Amino acid sequence: MNKYLKLGKFSFGMGDRFGHQGKAQLKACVLATELGAEFIPVWNKSNREHAFIGTEPSSLRAEADAAVKALGWKKPYHVDADHIRLETVDRFIAPSDFFTIDVADSIGQPASVTDVKAFMDRHPELTGKIFIPHIGRPFEITRAEVERVAGKFLLAAQEAGKIYRHIAQAKGEGNFITEVSMDETDSPQTPPELLIILAALADEGIPLQTIAPKFTGRFNKGVDYVGDIRQFEQEFNDDVAVIAHAIQRYGLPPSLKLSVHSGSDKFSIYEPICQALKKFNAGVHIKTAGTTWLEELIGLAEAGGDGLEIAKEIYAHAVGQVDEFCAPYASVIDIDKSKLPPAAVVNGWSSRQFTDALRHDQKNPAFNPSFRQLLHVSFKVAAKKGDRYLNALKKHEAIVAKNVTENLFERHMKPLLLGK
Ligand SMILES: [Zn+2]
Repeated sequence: MNKYLKLGKFSFGMGDRFGHQGKAQLKACVLATELGAEFIPVWNKSNREHAFIGTEPSSLRAEADAAVKALGWKKPYHVDADHIRLETVDRFIAPSDFFTIDVADSIGQPASVTDVKAFMDRHPELTGKIFIPHIGRPFEITRAEVERVAGKFLLAAQEAGKIYRHIAQAKGEGNFITEVSMDETDSPQTPPELLIILAALADEGIPLQTIAPKFTGRFNKGVDYVGDIRQFEQEFNDDVAVIAHAIQRYGLPPSLKLSVHSGSDKFSIYEPICQALKKFNAGVHIKTAGTTWLEELIGLAEAGGDGLEIAKEIYAHAVGQVDEFCAPYASVIDIDKSKLPPAAVVNGWSSRQFTDALRHDQKNPAFNPSFRQLLHVSFKVAAKKGDRYLNALKKHEAIVAKNVTENLFERHMKPLLLGK
């Protein structure tokens, strides 16, 4: 592989829907680096988020550059065109240097019979017993299984190749970081499937540096992991081992690592992730987005006065249209409607009551995951308020920033790298 833009070993994806928290987010990377837990910052925003908020991809680049300048950050940083596809990528090409190619829609669409056969003939090593260091029992993959997996994923790999080449033609090979995401699909990919997928992506000549599989368990928006942590741990370890093997076997970039699209705060899996990274001396990319928007709301509520008022208004609006707000997210939220306090009750809350219910502190008995999940998906209400919301963010910048930084640093970065 020739020279290419390399992603650092540990990188942290940060979404910032309203574009005001770049500095506060970068500050978390500064604090982590001071503790010896260096995270390369990556600002991510999907086409969908840009559409909801009414922003252009170039605004994210401007925000990242401004934050880096303001804080004097000397290490690399990146701007991620998150979950793009062939029809949405073009306006992201100039301002981005990290592309998350989303091929979830092509999963399960059959590739041509000739292509599947050619793939199997090219990869006899995928059939039979496959010994991978650190995986206790060797994979036993039959030819029929390779055929099934290729049938399910080959078209997605080909689509990723198409999008990669489209970007490479415009930006030049080696000038950007490529991630492929498969997380927004129905069923998780098993480690043997991941191996076959990586072989197919390598065949496409994609210099893949991060891959976001769908992991086992539920990754609900804004709240902790729901699932069997042991099983997740096993799968995560096996995936890391598969990646190390695929780098050697298929000539993928040595910087290739897993990307965990967290849907915000998956605190209970951070410890197993931290352990696995140590065991394998591996890197990871963690992608967050909505967690920062919720810290904005917490900061506004904490500020009291007009800040608390706007936070209450947003909740009242969201709870009034709860079904409509939740429908698009049905597969990634679990809201117990009986646990949603009526707007009239919340309107009487103090700053402390609002922030206790919203802040992701599972030890606090007043923490309300249903309240938090509903607000997580209700950022469109804030977007509709336009300047009123943005002005509130400006007015209460200090208290909002404090919450944004503390959340990323204390609740995410420290547990991930320092195990505490
Ligand atoms: Zn994702």
